[in-house]
Amino acid sequence: MPEPQTAAQAKRSRPDAAAAPAPTDGTPQKPPQSALQKALARLGLVRDIDLALHLPLRYEDETRIVRLAAARDGDTVQIEATVVASEVVLRPRRQLLVTVDDGSGRCLLRFFHFYPSQQKALSQGARVRVRGELRGGFGGAVMMHPTVKAAGTPLPDALTPVYPTVAGLAQGVLRRAVREGLARADLSETLPPEISGKKTLQPRWGLRSSLSFLHHPLPGADLAALQDHSHPAWQRLKAEELLAQQLSQLEARRARERLRAPALRPAAGALHQRLLAALPFALTAAQVRVDREIARDLAEPRPMHRLLQGDVGSGKTVVAALAAARCIAAGHQCALMVPTEILAEQHFRKLVGWLAPLGVRVAWLAGRQPKKARDAMLAQVASGEAALVVGTHAVIQQRVTFHSLALAIVDEQHRFGVQQRLALRTKAGSADGGDGAEPHLLMMSATPIPRTLAMSYLADLEVSTLDELPPGRTPVVTKLVADTRRAEVVQRIRAQIAQGRQVYWVCPLIEESEAVDLVNATATHAELQAALPGIAVALLHSRMPAADKQQVMSEFVAGSIKVLVATTVIEVGVDVPNASLMVVEHAERFGLSQLHQLRGRVGRGAAASACVLLYAVGEGGRLGESARERLRAMVETGDGFEIARRDLTIRGPGEFLGARQSGAPLLRFADLDTDTELLAWARALAPRMLAEHPELAAKHVQRWLGGRAEYLKA
Ligand code: ADP
Ligand code: MG
Repeated sequence: MPEPQTAAQAKRSRPDAAAAPAPTDGTPQKPPQSALQKALARLGLVRDIDLALHLPLRYEDETRIVRLAAARDGDTVQIEATVVASEVVLRPRRQLLVTVDDGSGRCLLRFFHFYPSQQKALSQGARVRVRGELRGGFGGAVMMHPTVKAAGTPLPDALTPVYPTVAGLAQGVLRRAVREGLARADLSETLPPEISGKKTLQPRWGLRSSLSFLHHPLPGADLAALQDHSHPAWQRLKAEELLAQQLSQLEARRARERLRAPALRPAAGALHQRLLAALPFALTAAQVRVDREIARDLAEPRPMHRLLQGDVGSGKTVVAALAAARCIAAGHQCALMVPTEILAEQHFRKLVGWLAPLGVRVAWLAGRQPKKARDAMLAQVASGEAALVVGTHAVIQQRVTFHSLALAIVDEQHRFGVQQRLALRTKAGSADGGDGAEPHLLMMSATPIPRTLAMSYLADLEVSTLDELPPGRTPVVTKLVADTRRAEVVQRIRAQIAQGRQVYWVCPLIEESEAVDLVNATATHAELQAALPGIAVALLHSRMPAADKQQVMSEFVAGSIKVLVATTVIEVGVDVPNASLMVVEHAERFGLSQLHQLRGRVGRGAAASACVLLYAVGEGGRLGESARERLRAMVETGDGFEIARRDLTIRGPGEFLGARQSGAPLLRFADLDTDTELLAWARALAPRMLAEHPELAAKHVQRWLGGRAEYLKA
């Protein structure tokens, strides 16, 4: 679980944060907002240009009056007619029934909810303009809850836009705000003149003409092309959006290239080579390749900014240890930040085991450490005596001062927020004598970032991939089992333990109610203890004191505890190769990537391993569609990349970038899967535009991303 941010971290927000649109924290220096402004801000609509770029979901055709005789069943039509009868009936339900006649035919209007004012407007003899869907009924055509206006007002000459909105912001009000924003906004072209007229974009569709068309298309427009966003006006906007994003990434990259970092070039025969020689296994080819990529970056006087992705169990930890060894051998400190205390503990133990025999002092920092131990660690970090510091986000707290931090490693980086990653980056300590050099940054993740995402959002990031598992692994067999068959699962546990193996049993975490989860986990623990007499069954959850957690974990590692009942605290990184069975209770409540991570806790040794996903059907007696898809994916594939691809289609891209806490949609118009041609166009144009038209580039980014640009860079 990501642990809550500390006040110190929360305060360390970026200097331009105040300029960002709509952080709903009521920032005091902002002028007071009207109710309308507040509602618009909830949609991210702050500037005129934001309103202009708020595009319709669909359109309604109010430009024509149709005669009833010419309308067909199922058509959505607008008619003008005279009310010939109007009454409220009470049975079978209270409703207002109005009959209208337009000279060519009659139609019944039916309202289950209505105000007295509406009833009055629909009294006998009134001339009304009515819009709704026609349905044939026994007694003739019917419209349910049509919209009604007075007849005779001029007809609009464009289609009526229907915008995405939020509760409390009426469509009509939003329409007016958008129309005004569109009229006021600066829509001058930012694309360099020489590029328009190329084949990707049609010159006729500039920004202004595209926007006015998309907000108010004329009747007869190609509605299908508007709906599926293939219309040239849509293409134009998608292209501009992608260009803005590419430009901002490129700027971030250039800014980083101007930063300095200590060049880490350890001598031959130094620590990293001794570590390599001491390891009980040979590196996989993938590990060797990635290790080289990292070494090359570290030797540069610019900060490395690299993401190491590798499926669970691909052996990222040892790659991190080798990078740390290079850094230490060059005379600097390294920090390794992990999302949970259990993982920090485990990494600490593993790294001490590898590096202490080589004379390296490793310190450990965690939130709930006793003060005395913590102070001692802090002193070692400050003096440089501890060359490697392992910890939770406690590592980036303000009180931690490094002697000479030159490499920061973030494990399971997707579990950290953007702010925390930034904080680590700026925690340069006194590398190079405190003259502002930054540490190198290595981020590790088992949740692979799909290629298109990496290309567009992480252009500022180098990516290394461990695409090979260490030899001797047998694939984990995954089974779906109904919760009603728990007894069989318990039998299976017994069999595994008889063979000397160990078992995980994971209980779900429902975010809104940690207390309930604890009850669940505790009950399961008691149930298993009763069902498995003579077998050591232990409970592990996030609320236990740190010392107890450590105790349980080390007994499980040592093998004296056979069954570990845990909440998702073990989701990330835990490595006990002897464990061969993973049971996940209420698997239907977990996300797909999370299930894959959990499954990754087994299958780490040579023994055949299994993962049992227990599911319980809810009140309706069936699993929801997305739960079914997730469970099916788990059975069908063990490949982390395939899992990530499916997860992306089930959940959308935000989660991969740790964007959960922001909620800002990453791309509003373009779709990375389908707009590959436009993406390629934007990638090619961005560097040229930055070089040849820097003012246009700056204006373009500002227009499209406004306060969001900084967010995307992070
Ligand atoms: P992850 O990539 O999920 O963090 P770990 O670093 O925890 O994976 O490695 C998984 C297991 O594989 C560990 O027990 C580790 O010691 C072992 N391991 C790593 N590299 C190799 C290798 N080249 N050969 C054999 N075992 C390895
Ligand atoms: Mg790991």
